[in-house]
Amino acid sequence: MQTVTILGATGSVGVSTLDVLRRHPQRFAVHALTANTNWQRLGAQCEEFQPKFAVLCQAEAAQALQRYLSAVGSATEVLCGMDGLCSVAADPEVDIVMAAIVGGAGLQPTLAAVGNGRKVLLANKESLVMSGHLFMSRVQREAVTLLPIDSEHNAIFQCLANGAQGHAQGVRKILLTGSGGPLLRESVASLASITPDQACAHPNWEMGRKISVDSASMMNKGLELIEACWLFSLAPEDVEVVIHPQSVVHSMVEYIDGSIIAQLGHPDMRTPIAHGLAWPERIESGVTRLDFSSQGDLRFEAPDLDRYPCLRLCQQVAGKSQNYAIALNAANEVAVAQFLDELIRFTDIPVIIESVLEQTSPTEAHTIETILALDAEARNRAIEVIARITH
Ligand code: NDP
Repeated sequence: MQTVTILGATGSVGVSTLDVLRRHPQRFAVHALTANTNWQRLGAQCEEFQPKFAVLCQAEAAQALQRYLSAVGSATEVLCGMDGLCSVAADPEVDIVMAAIVGGAGLQPTLAAVGNGRKVLLANKESLVMSGHLFMSRVQREAVTLLPIDSEHNAIFQCLANGAQGHAQGVRKILLTGSGGPLLRESVASLASITPDQACAHPNWEMGRKISVDSASMMNKGLELIEACWLFSLAPEDVEVVIHPQSVVHSMVEYIDGSIIAQLGHPDMRTPIAHGLAWPERIESGVTRLDFSSQGDLRFEAPDLDRYPCLRLCQQVAGKSQNYAIALNAANEVAVAQFLDELIRFTDIPVIIESVLEQTSPTEAHTIETILALDAEARNRAIEVIARITH
């Protein structure tokens, strides 16, 4: 029996993870579940999975959850805030941590999980983008088993013979596929009037709203490019982004002998989650089988960087000083939140990021304190840029 902590249990990846765990009660027990404010959903999850701990970031939500769990006779202990998140991530009783908080808020708990030195399933790509060098050096120091949960990186991991690092294996290129999101065929001129609901209407994947907007702008693919470089020790020019609207091929690895190995499957996060949970074994995930006789065409094309300026910005930042990736991620998070609140236009997002990047200087960031300070600085800059363009 292995114990599992899910950071971000109430989100899209968290719920899919619980769905896989539900299918394997003899194999996994839930140690802790966490959320930001959604105590109602977390309460229902605690009733079903009976974790030892539940953590909420917001104090009132934690009190509400405590009252609810006491009323239903649950023995789950409720913790609160960043200390609670980090303690359930680093708890030596935990075998597996699923890092599925959205955004930079996941950085400290995810690093705490790495410090625990067991098995970390990484969905929270923003934490690796922000802290690449620090993150990967801790992974090596603690001899952590790090398994990528982003479907593309999970695919690359599988195509690289279980994650063996790039060049040592005769790799020529990584082909990082992306659907192009819901705006692939919209005219570029109409992108300024796209609403949050249109941007979030992903054709193939059901995801949280932040990553859905990132998929529409292809910022998500750009963050994944940076993530792939850190995970697999690659240079940015070794990673080629390919649009594949059907999301059936989840990424490919091209070798120097001309072989290209791809990982395919129905687009459902339970596949990479089950792979990560059971690795190096395989378990049932509940995912629908891919039926090739009814699948139809699989198409591939190059991304148009005029349509996806966020992808271009990520390509410029990849491989550069860490501060650029921190600034890019921070500015994007601020801009996406404002877009979701209908305060700025979809097309303002890359403008804000580019403006923040222009004000950023190369700084290495090898400590968590430096990373958090640079992140805060970039967020403030983004807010200033937004104030300028909206007045
Ligand atoms: P969701 O928005 O659906 O869920 C986010 C989770 O994080 C929720 O549990 C939320 O709690 C919690 N959370 C939000 N803000 C904070 C905070 N400040 N402090 C602590 N917890 C917080 O996100 P997704 O599940 O879609 O994505 C999670 C991560 O996985 C992201 O980094 C994303 O890029 C990555 N990912 C997601 C995929 C997907 O299919 N969804 C695919 C590949 C990667 P609450 O419910 O209380 O708000």
